[in-house]
Amino acid sequence: LNRRLAEFGTTIFAEMSALALRTGSINLGQGFPDTDGPEEVREAAVRALRDGRGNQYPPGPGVPELRAAVAAHQERRYGLSYDPDGEVLVTAGATEAIAAALLALVEPGDEVVALEPYYDSYAACIAMAGGTRVPVTLRPDGTAFRLDLDELRAAVTPRTRLLLVNTPHNPTGTVLTRAELTAIAELAVERDLLVVTDEVYEHLVFDDAGHLPLATLPGMRERTVTIGSAGKTFSFTGWKVGWVTSTPRLVTAVRAAKQFLTYVSSGPFQYAVAEALALPDAYFEAFRDDMRTKRDILAAGLAEAGFTVYDTAGTYFITTDIRPLGESDGFAFCRSLPERAGVVAIPNAVFYDHREEGAPFVRFAFCKRPEVLKEAAERLRRLA
Ligand code: PMP
Ligand code: GLN
Repeated sequence: LNRRLAEFGTTIFAEMSALALRTGSINLGQGFPDTDGPEEVREAAVRALRDGRGNQYPPGPGVPELRAAVAAHQERRYGLSYDPDGEVLVTAGATEAIAAALLALVEPGDEVVALEPYYDSYAACIAMAGGTRVPVTLRPDGTAFRLDLDELRAAVTPRTRLLLVNTPHNPTGTVLTRAELTAIAELAVERDLLVVTDEVYEHLVFDDAGHLPLATLPGMRERTVTIGSAGKTFSFTGWKVGWVTSTPRLVTAVRAAKQFLTYVSSGPFQYAVAEALALPDAYFEAFRDDMRTKRDILAAGLAEAGFTVYDTAGTYFITTDIRPLGESDGFAFCRSLPERAGVVAIPNAVFYDHREEGAPFVRFAFCKRPEVLKEAAERLRRLA
């Protein structure tokens, strides 16, 4: 393994899901729903397969139906208008979108400012692109993790090429406020930075304000690459359909990298996701409300079990602090948890460069059936 990748090892999700299988534990580690997405969308995939749509290489930028559906979705939800021909690119999940964006836009030696804790592929992709990551740490402030805007401003140097933003934020569950996003936007404009924004949890924002895409703010549409994922929005994480929306220039750049990563992927599923994106608002509301109920079940269970539970305003993750349980090392805690309680969780430290900052935090996923969450909470209560 080369020096760029040597520090990353095996992703924590693979390690922890294998541990869950081996020990027969309830897996609240890797974020995937235990209920598949809508029946009609699965039917649409079956129809596409049967009718021979997408069984051979789809077009490089994605099938026209899906590009049109992504553009229509951005317009309908956020009033953002994108040309399906040239401003939308279909990718192999958000993971490929992140990789292709960083590989296309970062020069070796460029600094990339990212919110820490960050989703694990960010660090690896910045490294593969030859960039240097500059983490800005979200810290507990009252009952939620928040961004320190002064630290963010101080992190930008003449070598900064882009800001890598994620809202709603994995793993903290923080949703950046309009004021925070405005400050990010002003900084990007003032310092002439590109912004890559991972908004895969856009439909999992639990308060009424809903999701605010960074690209809607003044001066941002022309410098922002926005990333979405059908895995999250429709509970089909195995389909690996994601997308990018941006300007023709930036989409062309991302596509230049993408064509040599997968070239294309998920042909028949692209047609199904096109139909999914056109589902009525009621689908998205029910999805969010269901996930909010699950959040509340798990948050209550974790609090009863003695964890400090931080607010989850978005995503399907809850970050906890294990210190009230007399523990301080999230890695050791997560490695022993299957044996002690039959539950798997993720140590947030893996999402930090400043490992010691993340040490006492542990993430639980709540995209599971209520009875599973209740059983997990029951098991965790016995830890005390
Ligand atoms: N970004 C974030 C913040 C995520 O949580 C995930 C999924 N865990 C991804 C990207 C990857 O999404 P996909 O499965 O569509 O590749
Ligand atoms: N995004 C999911 C998570 O954060 C897992 C994705 C993966 O396994 N790479 O848990």
